[in-house]
Amino acid sequence: MVESIFCVHCLELFPPRNRKQSYCTRPVCQRARKAAWERIKIKTDPDYRAQKRLSQKKWAQNHPGYWKKYRSDNPKKTERNRILQIIRNRRRARRKLCLENKIAKSDARNCQYFEPLGRFWLVPMIAKMDAAKVNIYTIRDSW
Ligand SMILES: [Zn+2]
Repeated sequence: MVESIFCVHCLELFPPRNRKQSYCTRPVCQRARKAAWERIKIKTDPDYRAQKRLSQKKWAQNHPGYWKKYRSDNPKKTERNRILQIIRNRRRARRKLCLENKIAKSDARNCQYFEPLGRFWLVPMIAKMDAAKVNIYTIRDSW
């Protein structure tokens, strides 16, 4: 009898089939497992990443207008993605600058993405919640 463990996605107890299994068999958890695997694979395997990009490109060519329609059907998601893309672009530009600075051996402080503004308390309007101590940073617009 195998001792039950907690699924890393849903946190429910389940009896694993083997020592390597860390996700339960629920479809939602299996999807999360595959997504996690793919995130790592895309980060670490250049061939897989190139193949994935190529296959997405082919799919888009076979489904012309899909993304245009998706964006017009889902304006909120489109706006959210636009904002997230701005953040990703800034991070990428910042990371590139950091790498260039590392090569040039310049000040390590230049590799901070955000500049701390200070520490603040977030005091909730709902009475039964605790206040949270947070750090607030300014995001620099241009680098
Ligand atoms: Zn699960």
